[in-house]
Amino acid sequence: MVQRKVTYRLYPTRRQIEALERLRWVHCLLWNTALDQRRSTWREAQVSLSFADQCKVLTGWRAQSSLLRSVNAQSEQVTLKRLDEAFQRFFRRVKRGEKPGFPRFKSLHRFKGWGYKSHGDGWRLLAGPGMKHGKLRLSGLGEVRIRGRARTPGEPKTCEILYRRGKWYASVTVECEPVRRHGERIGGLDWGVETFATIASPEGMIRIENPRHLDRSLERIRAVQKSISRKEEAAKKARGKPKGFPVSNRLKKAYEKLRRLHEKVACQRKDFLHQNSAWIVATFAVLGLEPLNIRGMTASGGAYKRGLNRGILDAAGGLFHSLLRYKAAEAGAWAMEANTRQIKPSQRCHQCWRVDEENKKKLPDRWHTCRFCGASCSRDENAARVLWRWMEEQLSGREPAEAWREVSPAGLPGQPALP
Ligand SMILES: [Zn+2]
Repeated sequence: MVQRKVTYRLYPTRRQIEALERLRWVHCLLWNTALDQRRSTWREAQVSLSFADQCKVLTGWRAQSSLLRSVNAQSEQVTLKRLDEAFQRFFRRVKRGEKPGFPRFKSLHRFKGWGYKSHGDGWRLLAGPGMKHGKLRLSGLGEVRIRGRARTPGEPKTCEILYRRGKWYASVTVECEPVRRHGERIGGLDWGVETFATIASPEGMIRIENPRHLDRSLERIRAVQKSISRKEEAAKKARGKPKGFPVSNRLKKAYEKLRRLHEKVACQRKDFLHQNSAWIVATFAVLGLEPLNIRGMTASGGAYKRGLNRGILDAAGGLFHSLLRYKAAEAGAWAMEANTRQIKPSQRCHQCWRVDEENKKKLPDRWHTCRFCGASCSRDENAARVLWRWMEEQLSGREPAEAWREVSPAGLPGQPALP
């Protein structure tokens, strides 16, 4: 069994919108009141309240307040839980010596929504066949029309109601039996900005290029950004000061256009990543990946055009890996990240396995030429081959098909125990 999130868009009636807004307001009020209680208890008695403490207090509050009583009790506990999690994160940051960022009071404007713990308590999903569209019953609202679809239908577990830019959404966690099947190949995958993915396997090299339509959208983003900076410059000049220039209607429209374009790119990118990760998992049983965090640190800026592409495509890398990992876990396949510090896929030679410490490749160096063994191929291909070979070593000579059965990816996807 695995858990998946399904997002439905809500289509509330005017009366239901009022009720949703009221619920959001009550939860926001509860968040601020509970936060205030934690702060004052600490100030006055140096006592740190726990989630359980606050749940007890909530029972008392509900007895006194008809406002709190009018809202589902479990969902109020979820808001307290979220506050508790905010505090846990705060304490962890303090411990690690990072900038702490104390949990904040929230204005209604900043308050995103609330959640429900168990299906049937305060909410019920009444979706159509295949969990497509249908209705969501919320206590105090009745049935709200919803649109959306579960990739893999299953049993609804928890629900979050979210408000974003004038629209309402329900994010439902569904427990389901995965239906995905994996392929039989073994390989190594190098992810890059120029070529989206290069996969090395005994069956040969596979290259997945970045989609053209993404390039076109990026062109348009650049054009809008240019016109925005022109308009901003003009406004600053007219004002005579670098800050606090008036935002004209035309500028407002341009900001809105830019935001829409970014949303469009995000959508296109997500589609592309979903399709490709699904295809890769359907083709491979075992896949070696390079962790992305390290690449992020070494990537340096460049020309503006490259910078923008890199920014947007870099963000895609993290999503791509997480999609690959969860789809692999769904299918029972194995996608595993190499330890880059040990393996150095971009510096190591796939053929002789040596690292040329004196001539390290820099980011713009796109070709791999080995001065020890004479191997010569593109940098991406070399990295993919290194990852493939590393992956084969992890399987230590066993048939891959057996190996992945033995190391079930039931644990954290992408981090199974070594065979
Ligand atoms: Zn070599």
